Amino acid sequence: MIKYFRNLSLVLKNYSDGLGHLIFTNVCLHCNKELVSTEKYLCFGCWEQLKPTYFEKEKGGNQLERLFQGRVHIKHASALYYYGKGTVSQSLIRALKYDFKAPLGIFLGEHMAVLLKDHAITTCDYLLPVPIHPRKKFARGYNQSELLAIGLSKRWQKPILQHLVKKKTYTKSQTQLDRFGRWENVQDIFKGLGTNLSNAHVLIVDDVITTGATLEALVKAIRDVNPQIQISLLSFAFTN
Ligand SMILES: [Zn+2]
Repeated sequence: MIKYFRNLSLVLKNYSDGLGHLIFTNVCLHCNKELVSTEKYLCFGCWEQLKPTYFEKEKGGNQLERLFQGRVHIKHASALYYYGKGTVSQSLIRALKYDFKAPLGIFLGEHMAVLLKDHAITTCDYLLPVPIHPRKKFARGYNQSELLAIGLSKRWQKPILQHLVKKKTYTKSQTQLDRFGRWENVQDIFKGLGTNLSNAHVLIVDDVITTGATLEALVKAIRDVNPQIQISLLSFAFTN
């Protein structure tokens, strides 16, 4: 019996030590190394590993702008970091989407705002986060693109549009589909709502751009009801 209690107290001690570790230590979202007080979300080494696209420095059209050529008219498009399997940007987006890390979204939005503070994209009048279905927003607790937009809005003082467009259907996850499947899966998912923005310049904010199929559908839905509107795109990450 005594042995049992001793084992039990050992189990409880280990459990509480483990819990204490979970609650009180901050670890890097990519390599799990314990962070020092001056590091936030990532250790310095992992921040260094993020691969910038430098799209914002390119004159005369970058790779992302070319992706939309012949599909929909876009005024400016930029994305900050390349995205891929095992990359640091993938760890950040995964934490943002699946680990209930709302403050991380605002932090990344502000980070983007600082890096792009002199870019033509800041001539936008409004920010529009890519809408997600209310059911998904409820399950996740937030729309991750909206958090990025909140961070941008804090730095740039631009209003966020909430009701320009709505998501109609609950799309299947894009991850298992090929390029055409992805395009087909999202073509009819947005509905532009009646607004009178005439020729305002709206910046759509997204977390990751892959084929651009979702954004293409979103831009078309907005233009259906606002034909004169000017649209730019900004994403944290881009799969090349
Ligand atoms: Zn790290």
